[in-house]
Amino acid sequence: MTHPPEDPRVRRTLQHLADGREIVFFDRPGAPERVVDDPRPLSALHPAVDIRIDPVLDEPVVIASHRQGRTYHPPVDECPLCPSTDGRHTEVPTDSYQVAVFENQFPSLWHHGRCEVVCFSSRHDGRFADLSPDQVDLVMSAWIDRTVALGGAPEVQQVFLFENRGAEIGVTLGHPHGQIYAYPYLTPRTARMLEVARRHHDENGSVLADSVVARELADNVRIVARNEHWVAFVPYAARWPVEVHLHPRQRVPGLPELSQAQREAFPALYLDVLGRLDRMYNAPLPYIAAWHQAPVREGRDLLGLHLELFSIRRTATKLKFLAGSESAMGAFISDVTPEQVAQRLRDLARP
Ligand SMILES: [Zn+2]
Repeated sequence: MTHPPEDPRVRRTLQHLADGREIVFFDRPGAPERVVDDPRPLSALHPAVDIRIDPVLDEPVVIASHRQGRTYHPPVDECPLCPSTDGRHTEVPTDSYQVAVFENQFPSLWHHGRCEVVCFSSRHDGRFADLSPDQVDLVMSAWIDRTVALGGAPEVQQVFLFENRGAEIGVTLGHPHGQIYAYPYLTPRTARMLEVARRHHDENGSVLADSVVARELADNVRIVARNEHWVAFVPYAARWPVEVHLHPRQRVPGLPELSQAQREAFPALYLDVLGRLDRMYNAPLPYIAAWHQAPVREGRDLLGLHLELFSIRRTATKLKFLAGSESAMGAFISDVTPEQVAQRLRDLARP
């Protein structure tokens, strides 16, 4: 993995919470110093995490039985992701922050692997779509830092960055935040993508991700938005009622390998797409935003960085639930054509 050069526009501060967990602040120079004062009587984490292999599918399943007790839809004045204020101590024990990343108190992965929380902003009622391009750039600095740091651990095979947004898809904390999972194995999805990419390369001599982007640009009927360095499109065989993939037009394995020009071009396009999603039903669209990065130790020349953004909302009042065909058989059935969805999203450009 490539270590990006030190960025003089980012100040990184590592501190520790009361139970020893790491918290890292990412600030623009000139912001107040971040000094953690965490008097909470927390004992060190001993989560019960067991990784079992399903013998039938040969796929890992994490059994994390301690997570049943995690914080569930707390009221705003008990939000654990807001900065600490007088007398109330949160997971971010400073009086303000720009971007903060800390180890999850209720991790799904532990010892082998790690789970972290990324607070995009100290504003409780903000949305990612409300961030300025400069704030998105600072979040990207945090993502890149964590990809390199976690990917450098010998047991980690894959670093997954994602945001779940909306109670409809199971978000238990309203504060705008994302998560990072550093897996000690290849996820079933990535393992399958790598297998297909290898086969494509053997048969065609080309890289599948490049062929996919080239096809979308040539077909030109599912593209939602683009700029010089990125393209956002509804995939040819979209599974979800709303699904948009963002690819850099020049393939790289992960966020740390983005060129400066690619990186600078991302925030505007992503904010544009998120704005369109929230205009679909004139309400914040519940979504999952999933960064696919190549695994840490294999397939780095075969899999390309891209963001898969999708929603379970299929109308203003209806959600798509994964029922028999999808849940039991993994066989998706979509009620809309990808071309229709792309047209709708093109029409929802910022007025
Ligand atoms: Zn909050």
